[in-house]
Amino acid sequence: MSGEHRARVAIVGGGILGCAAAYHLARAGVSDVLVLERDELNAATTSQAAGLIGQLRTSAVKSAIVGQTLADIAALEAEGLVSGFKRTGSLRLALRPEREAEIREQVTAARRFGVDATLVGAADVARLAPGLEAPKEHPAAWMPNDGYAEPYTLATAYASAARRLGATFATGCDVLDIRVADGRARGVTTRQAGMVADVEAEAVVIAAGAWTSVIAARARTAVPAFAVRHQAWVTAPMDWLAPTFPVVRVPDRLAYLRPEVGGLMLGFFETTPLGVDVGARAGFSVAATPRDRDVLTAHAPGLMEIVPGLAEAPVVGGTAGVPTYTPDGHFVVGALPGVAGLFVATGCCAHGIAGSGGVGRAVAEAVTGAAATLDPTPMAPGRFGARAWDAGWVRVACEGTYAHYYDLVRR
Ligand SMILES: Cc1cc2nc3c(=O)[nH]c(=O)nc-3n(C[C@H](O)[C@H](O)[C@H](O)COP(=O)(O)OP(=O)(O)OC[C@H]3O[C@@H](n4cnc5c(N)ncnc54)[C@H](O)[C@@H]3O)c2cc1C
Repeated sequence: MSGEHRARVAIVGGGILGCAAAYHLARAGVSDVLVLERDELNAATTSQAAGLIGQLRTSAVKSAIVGQTLADIAALEAEGLVSGFKRTGSLRLALRPEREAEIREQVTAARRFGVDATLVGAADVARLAPGLEAPKEHPAAWMPNDGYAEPYTLATAYASAARRLGATFATGCDVLDIRVADGRARGVTTRQAGMVADVEAEAVVIAAGAWTSVIAARARTAVPAFAVRHQAWVTAPMDWLAPTFPVVRVPDRLAYLRPEVGGLMLGFFETTPLGVDVGARAGFSVAATPRDRDVLTAHAPGLMEIVPGLAEAPVVGGTAGVPTYTPDGHFVVGALPGVAGLFVATGCCAHGIAGSGGVGRAVAEAVTGAAATLDPTPMAPGRFGARAWDAGWVRVACEGTYAHYYDLVRR
């Protein structure tokens, strides 16, 4: 960094949530925003994501958060930026009566939230996703406006749009500390190219992915989120796979899939999750996320019953990263209790790409004090009270959220 070290808002972390926050702040007229990223932009967990963007959510606010992302994608594309979004539509399959009941309820609720969602039978599934052998006895949910985004491309589009509006990005810039005086955040201390410098700021937003809690602890605040490893695999191209193949979620197989350069990208939610305490692993980088092919070996046969064509394609690659989870599956966005002017944007629960627009907007509104467009209550950082300080409880609860990701939603 050169020149004056001062910004109205300093954002710690240049992943998709930091970039989306910068974009929404700049769009709200706060152009004096400085994003501080210790590596390259969007090189950590964001670059590893499958990028599914689905609106069938368990609450109106979650659905609206994703709706904001789709609105942002439209706005970014209207500016001539490439969003990397493919509107393939998405299917959610039921393999048992209880799941069918859940999907029926979800579709009804989604329509109430204004989402285009419908129930389709086996013949429609076969037409929409040739090669998919869904059970004939249960309908599937079909959301034509869903799809997936190439995550790095979407995150870069947010950063480019924020830059056009005046935001500044400093890469290779490690935030060492949050500067707090008289109960208020005053800025951050950084190290870039071996030089330590203070940056003055009226507000600080911590959007540091898996490291968010570590940095917040330096300001003596607790963030109720914990990182859990998540992996996805990519198959070789398959002749039978149509370019229009949609995103497919098979919760009864703990699985999702979507097209990836002629093949499929497959992800599974593990029942024995691997939490990753980055605070206890100095120098941990997302590139070093431990990978476990046994997860693929254990889950792939169940998925092949639904997608028999998978049997002919070798797995040729994969991704892994450390998204953050929360005890209740909601994001953690807004003002951190105890330190005025200190904000947080994390707890993506494996949908930080899908939720990037809503989270960016919500944190921008919290920083500027604008009326909230999205109900901030379910995302409030202080909602767990003193339990947020109990690191053991937070970890176990967050691993539980991961392990039960595709459990039936009980009402
Ligand atoms: C295999 C896999 C599949 C996924 N699939 C999906 C999906 O289908 N849909 C979806 O919506 N989401 C998905 N996700 C989740 C998604 O990747 C995350 O929700 C999202 O990337 C979180 O973004 P972030 O900005 O919070 O974190 P990150 O991308 O990790 O960014 C945080 C940034 O903070 C920086 N940082 C940390 N500490 C400091 C410091 N002290 N100083 C400066 N910078 C710092 C880091 O270098 C990093 O760049 C998936 C994730 C994985 C791993």
